[in-house]
Amino acid sequence: RTDLRRKSLLVLIYHHLMGQGYMEAALALDQETNLGLRRFEVCDNIDLEMVLMEYESYHYVKYQKYPKLIRKVTEAGNIIPKPLPKITSSQHPSSGKKTAASAQPNVRQIRIQFTFCFIYLAFKTAFNLCFQFADFNSFYIKNSDGMSRERLLKPLNGFSGITEEMRELATIISRDIYLHSPNVRWEDIIGLEDAKRLVKEAVVYPIKYPQLFTGILSPWKSLLLYGPPGTGKTMLAKAVATECKTTFFNISASSIISKWRGDSEKLVRVLFDLARYHAPSTIFLDELESVMGQRGSTMGGEHESNRRMKAELLVQMDGLARSDDLVFVLAASNLPWELDHAMLRRLEKRILVGFPSSLARQAMVSHWLPPFRSTEGGVELRTQLDYQTLAKEMEGYSGSDIALVCKEASMRPVRKIFDALESIHNDTPAICLDTVTTADFMEVLAHIKPSARSLMDRYTAWEKEYKSV
Ligand code: ATP
Repeated sequence: RTDLRRKSLLVLIYHHLMGQGYMEAALALDQETNLGLRRFEVCDNIDLEMVLMEYESYHYVKYQKYPKLIRKVTEAGNIIPKPLPKITSSQHPSSGKKTAASAQPNVRQIRIQFTFCFIYLAFKTAFNLCFQFADFNSFYIKNSDGMSRERLLKPLNGFSGITEEMRELATIISRDIYLHSPNVRWEDIIGLEDAKRLVKEAVVYPIKYPQLFTGILSPWKSLLLYGPPGTGKTMLAKAVATECKTTFFNISASSIISKWRGDSEKLVRVLFDLARYHAPSTIFLDELESVMGQRGSTMGGEHESNRRMKAELLVQMDGLARSDDLVFVLAASNLPWELDHAMLRRLEKRILVGFPSSLARQAMVSHWLPPFRSTEGGVELRTQLDYQTLAKEMEGYSGSDIALVCKEASMRPVRKIFDALESIHNDTPAICLDTVTTADFMEVLAHIKPSARSLMDRYTAWEKEYKSV
């Protein structure tokens, strides 16, 4: 492998020099190494600059700074400017008469040697590190506003084994890659401490501290987030996309079928190939039960193409488990009991994302309606709330239920002034809203009931049987 790597490196340098117009240097390299470099070409998916870029972006992700690859050789000044003997035609190697002076290296040779040294050392470092660690190949550019950042992806030209059909499928899947950060931070997710810890253990730390995750500690390859709707599963996935800087494929399972139709099996294959190409990657499969429901469970059996697609997904998951690729599958489901058992076995970690605890409910209400005057678009919204009582009253409400209740409660004082506002036709008066009180909440709670409380027993029973931790 080492010999092959060394030879590949020389071939890459040879073609790089050719590409840059350093023909003589390239030919000299070919002759000097005597490896027949000319007889090899560089494969489609590789080029030296790209390797260097990948290493730079890997370094940036890991250490938040770009690597310093080369530095000035201090002794160079002593070597190069040395007055060199004049080469006369009689001393020229081509004249066939070898003299002591002609045996000395000339300026051109020294320069060529220096160029080789520079290129060789820089790329050797880059290569070794790229082989040793991950293949970080996408990075961010700042947008014109200087604040938001957009992810730049490696061009698809280098995507291996690509046929016209595969390229088309790869283009479809590439649309599901997050180019902009969804901007959800870990601290934006209220509660769910266990789920956050496990997700970090599975996705964040193996990339940050690869040296810890070898042998028996090799990183998890897949994880299932299950639980009632609106409890923060998608938020967890978005936090992974925001915080981990991996290439994030946001695949909604139901769209796999509609968008991919008869091609879904090929698309699944290309999805995983593409994830490897853009590694480190996270594939987020939302609503997993809609693609990985139990096989043959529907009346009259399943459509053949569906069965093939499921089989392909299982094959790809097996492939991941056996490989060292930095590709991670994060799946989410509201109905885990409907999932295919073969798929469940392949999802190594299964985490229940349940209803928020009392403390989390309290934190949620005070997050959306803080205990001080908040200004919403220039209008003051005052609150006077008993957060503890509200948290108690909202047992069994999901995070999204609580957000809805808070919105409804804060709409009550706003509704009261609509009539008054509508009757005034001249200037808009200064608006002063009533305070949002606990009583407002109670009235709202009488109308908005928790959307999935009745299912909680089923989740708990399922957790007992399938919990992985
Ligand atoms: P579904 O299964 O229906 O897709 P989900 O579990 O993925 O639901 P999210 O989409 O993550 O739920 O959450 C919906 C909304 O509920 C969020 O946008 C957020 O406003 C609120 N929410 C839910 N859980 C939390 C939480 N733990 N912290 C903060 N906000 C939350």
